[in-house]
Amino acid sequence: SNEDREQYDVVVVGGGPGGSTLAALVAMRGHRVLILEKETFPRYQIGESLLPSTIHGVCRMTGVADKLAAAGFTPKKGGTFRWGANAEPWTFSFSVSPKIAGATSHAYQVERSKFDNILLEHAVEKGAEVRFRVSVTDVIEDAERVTGVRYTDADGTEHEVRAAYVVDASGNGSRLHKRVGGTREYSQFFRSLALFGYFEGGKRLPAPNSGNILSAAFESGWFWYIPLTPDLTSVGAVVRRENADKIQGDPERALLALIDECPLIKEYLSDATRVTDGQYGQLRVRKDYSYHQTKFWRPGLVLIGDAACFVDPVFSSGVHLATYSALLAARSISSSLAGIVSEEAAFTEFEARYRREYGVFYEFLMSFYDMHVDEDSYFWSAKKVTRNQHTELESFVELVAGVSSSEFDLDGAESAALRMKSKSAEFVSAIDEMSADAEGNMTPLFRSSAVRQAMQEGAQVQSRAFLGEDLGPDVPMFPGGLITSDDGMLWQPGPA
Ligand code: FAD
Repeated sequence: SNEDREQYDVVVVGGGPGGSTLAALVAMRGHRVLILEKETFPRYQIGESLLPSTIHGVCRMTGVADKLAAAGFTPKKGGTFRWGANAEPWTFSFSVSPKIAGATSHAYQVERSKFDNILLEHAVEKGAEVRFRVSVTDVIEDAERVTGVRYTDADGTEHEVRAAYVVDASGNGSRLHKRVGGTREYSQFFRSLALFGYFEGGKRLPAPNSGNILSAAFESGWFWYIPLTPDLTSVGAVVRRENADKIQGDPERALLALIDECPLIKEYLSDATRVTDGQYGQLRVRKDYSYHQTKFWRPGLVLIGDAACFVDPVFSSGVHLATYSALLAARSISSSLAGIVSEEAAFTEFEARYRREYGVFYEFLMSFYDMHVDEDSYFWSAKKVTRNQHTELESFVELVAGVSSSEFDLDGAESAALRMKSKSAEFVSAIDEMSADAEGNMTPLFRSSAVRQAMQEGAQVQSRAFLGEDLGPDVPMFPGGLITSDDGMLWQPGPA
């Protein structure tokens, strides 16, 4: 048919947060974008607890942040953890730092069916086309290059569509990623299984923490407890693979037995009933979800979000990595199509920055799991850095939250820009201070220079979303690497 001679600049496989963010950003540059999504939206998805950098960084760049603010999601001020040797839960707040106060010091807990739908509709508003109930079955190749995809529609009819770039944003369940070459490497450290469901009438943490995620470690693993609405709570148990037998058999009985093992969650659910109908009515299991691909792209094909990698749910990094990788890939596609930099340079930059961000979370989460084993030594080392008035947790909060923009709406843009610039400088020096203790030893969570660099990058993305060219020219992240354009939408050659 005529339809089979269709040609787009970009075909995006999957309309989750990764796919719709990329589609919006590339469409905003005037390119023709088609999203192919196998479900009809809204559809269920797990991954409900978000980080501030997603909301105030990438979602501000696409323009969807105001719609999210108006949607009535539960504001998340931070996390409360029963984790480590201490029996008492402890809380970190995104606004714990003097530099992170006000407007950007929160994220949301979201019903993903609603959140993903808002992002997808926004991409359409920005000019992307979307087709539902179409399943991409394979890529079309011309020698080394991917030149399009094959898909099957709801009637079972096969179609082909060509594109300069195919983006695999199809999440962790599809097999399309294999076509990039390379392999999927599963983490030896994060080999866990999750069993999860939904409850009505669960208790809430006392104000001001009632919107926090509650994470409770217990003998066999840990629970998440996420307040989605005043009445609805997402509850999941994560167990090590050695304990897989605990979630085999009848899932209802298994979940209740795990809840019985964890006094805090048991207490919070004491007046609650499990939801048994609608999208939240079933208990679900996920396993083997921590992996990375050994290759993230080949000519004409790029992987973003869960299609490329995922670490572990404990610090809510999944949607952040999906939307951040979407931003990086959108820059690579748009600057390649515009002929500003070579395709090779553009996608090498994408892969280097994405791998580093993934590595930062991987390393942090390993330390976080470690911390449960020996909390004393964690706090001992954290005490050392308090001499510099910063704690490691605080610095991680800055990593995920970015630099504050709270005073923006109050004053003129010019003074705001100056303040932001000085805050960026302050931020960079704070990171240097934090990464070594008084004796010059690196503190455990920030041993690697990658962590320090990525913290600066997190602040940059968010600052740029607010300030654009007022932030001043970018510097390359890697020697000989590319820099970001003033509006954050493109790569540019670095200084010669
Ligand atoms: P998805 O959201 O998976 O979207 C992919 C889309 O592609 C889907 O809509 C799917 O229907 C479509 N699709 C798939 N195959 C095809 C095909 N062949 N053709 C067309 N369309 C296709 N993250 C957080 O940020 N916070 C959390 O609290 C959190 N908790 C988690 C808990 C668990 C147990 C797990 C396993 C993950 C958790 N995550 C969390 C991670 C989060 O779920 C993912 O990282 C996130 O959804 C990835 O977004 P994405 O856009 O890459 O993919």
